[in-house]
Amino acid sequence: MIQIILSDRIYENDVRPIVMSFYPLSEIRFLDINSAKDSQVSRSQIRLISIIFNRTSITIEITDDKGETYRTHNETKDQLLEKLAYKNAMKRQLYNMLSSLSKKDLPWGILTGIRPTKLVYDMLDKEIDEKEIYSWMNKEYMCSDEKIELSILIAKRERDLLKAMDYKKGYSLYIGIPFCPSTCLYCSFPSFSIEGYGQLVEDYLRALETEIKFASSCFPGKRLTTVYLGGGTPTTLSANQLDRLLGIIRANFDFTYVREFCVEAGRPDSISREKLEVLLNWGVDRISINPQTMQERTLDLIGRRHSVDQINEAFYLAREVGHNNINMDIIIGLPGETSLDVEDTLDKIKKLNPDSLTVHTLAIKRASRLNIEKDNYLDLRVKDASHMLRVSKEFTKNKGYLPYYLYRQKNIADNLENVGYARYGKEGLYNILIMEEKQTILALGSGAMSKFVFHNEKRIDRVDNVKNLKDYISRIDEMIKRKSDFLNKNPHL
Ligand code: SF4
Repeated sequence: MIQIILSDRIYENDVRPIVMSFYPLSEIRFLDINSAKDSQVSRSQIRLISIIFNRTSITIEITDDKGETYRTHNETKDQLLEKLAYKNAMKRQLYNMLSSLSKKDLPWGILTGIRPTKLVYDMLDKEIDEKEIYSWMNKEYMCSDEKIELSILIAKRERDLLKAMDYKKGYSLYIGIPFCPSTCLYCSFPSFSIEGYGQLVEDYLRALETEIKFASSCFPGKRLTTVYLGGGTPTTLSANQLDRLLGIIRANFDFTYVREFCVEAGRPDSISREKLEVLLNWGVDRISINPQTMQERTLDLIGRRHSVDQINEAFYLAREVGHNNINMDIIIGLPGETSLDVEDTLDKIKKLNPDSLTVHTLAIKRASRLNIEKDNYLDLRVKDASHMLRVSKEFTKNKGYLPYYLYRQKNIADNLENVGYARYGKEGLYNILIMEEKQTILALGSGAMSKFVFHNEKRIDRVDNVKNLKDYISRIDEMIKRKSDFLNKNPHL
């Protein structure tokens, strides 16, 4: 366990992710300065971090597990006047000490947020020179050259893609279908296995239909830009249910200006010819068929309950039916996998030749089985995720895929990132809009979080739906009222 004492607990959320990035397996406990004095735990048996914040200085002491204590004291900018500069100075000081003790560097330095490209995007918008961006990211945030280059490349690509659409005057629609054939080991989404919750599907669709009808009247003056059906796995629905749902969406919204209609067909074991045809008939122009890995033993281990053959069959079937924009997701760092496994997975994906490939790095989320049962998987922990990510980067470069969006997650392996790569013109526009928070997203379904972007005020407000399936069904009127109250209070959105 790592115990942390802060003289000002306001910095807890700044300190925690940095310490966790260096010591991902350790439990972290914050103590306040007074209770720490009475702490019964012997200092010599634990790692202890103590940070004293003064108005223009910061003192950090770290006691390692051998009882050695290291101390640094730095004069900084005035805490009250230059909050961000003060906070970043503290993070750098902490980073340098932890880096020297652990003999580790973090590729993203002290940048712990999930949207590093947003920072670069905003700087490009302000016409800041690339060299200046580079030097700022390096000095202020201690990012590696590799990550700065990637951020600049992606932010430029995103800007090019968004330039072609009047996204500020539009909005996008997200609809969540929270059912899956089974629950994956690492899953932290609001997803329910169809075996256990199948009897609720019809009630869920009825509630969703009510919300869809309400949502269609939310923005009479705005154009719908993209529609994304995610979850869960929407193709867990039967072909008839999918047909009905897509029909309701098309009947209620004007699709004249829609640039992308995307459906997650994530699990190959949920796909059939009939469903693929239904998607195409209703104008779905991008789907995702996600292997995560092409290693049979890993698929078994992570509870996907489908084979590599099923992935291949689903992909070829989708092509045969006529889908010409198919994304595939893979995950780097799955338990027990080596670089050779990743190379083999990429080799198999090469034969399928998808239009885009999203490379995720495993993030262990608190609610996932992988975290709850973590002791069972300690021996299978991957040690070279950075190398694996480089292998995938090289693969995409050689196969003509360009990186076009990026995000990070809490507890992501080796403090890395997720990157979407696509052939030219096959990018997922919704992914950029949501990750860069460029457009209002009206989100429907259980656990869905709507985000309202106020461009002039540079502000984003959120309105969420309950996660629990039964609550969503029984409280649908309340979900609608939450949005309607918000929109009534903000008529000029
Ligand atoms: S397919 Fe996705 S949403 Fe469904 S259980 Fe697996 S990780 Fe969760």
